[in-house]
Amino acid sequence: MAETILITGANRGIGLELTRIFADNNWKVLASCRKPDAAEELSNLADTRNNIDIFSLDVSDDNAITRLAQGLENEPIDILFNNAGIFGPRDQDFGATNSGEWLSVMRTNVVAPMKMAEAFVEQVAASQRRIIASMGSMMGSVADNSSGGYYLYRSSKAALGMVVKSLSIDLADRGITAVVFHPGWVRTDMGGPQATTLPADSAAGFYNILEKMTIEQTGQFLTFEGKELPW
Ligand code: NAP
Repeated sequence: MAETILITGANRGIGLELTRIFADNNWKVLASCRKPDAAEELSNLADTRNNIDIFSLDVSDDNAITRLAQGLENEPIDILFNNAGIFGPRDQDFGATNSGEWLSVMRTNVVAPMKMAEAFVEQVAASQRRIIASMGSMMGSVADNSSGGYYLYRSSKAALGMVVKSLSIDLADRGITAVVFHPGWVRTDMGGPQATTLPADSAAGFYNILEKMTIEQTGQFLTFEGKELPW
């Protein structure tokens, strides 16, 4: 039986390339995005294959998460990949932070991956691989922060790291591996045109890592090249 991955934010950027590479490798991909009707590239990709199902999901909507989990109640999910994320406003310097914008970044980058894990834990536990992967960032590494700034984004990805660390402890008894990733500086709408890593290369790195992942790796913070990063 084909293995199954559920991806959030599958319509563009790294999420779209994750969808492509897992589908190319004969996985069943449950590709979720906010607006399937506007997700032209994802729809075109799904039209050329029979192993991509598209679902509507705004990860900042708890009820929508619950509804999707109920709809997929009997579907074992080998990998839940919390990819969706936002950067927030470009100006996040000291003196420029805005509480509403900050909470919105926290909601999408921290609360949503946790709500996804809570909603889909049974489906993940019922699968063969039992992995929950979440897209963090090197910018969320406290140890690596030597340039300051970016308060909203940095704090959200640092908090996501702590969420994943607790998941790795709380879900170990159920054989679930929880990891957080750094995708490189990736040429997407978020990363911008100067970014050094192509989304397809980042996605291919994650495919290779996830293919070989074992429970011993739970709680790790890894780059798309498989290198462990400091928290
Ligand atoms: P991107 O091109 O801006 O794509 C972001 C994706 O997240 C889009 O599919 C977007 O959907 C989705 N999204 C945002 N809010 C959502 C919500 N509330 N519900 C559902 N989907 C939502 O960014 P990317 O570079 O591919 O980033 C993917 C992940 O990698 C993010 O978590 C990001 O923080 C992380 N990351 C990226 C870089 C980089 O250099 N690019 C570096 C480190 C970490 P819409 O189209 O509906 O907005």
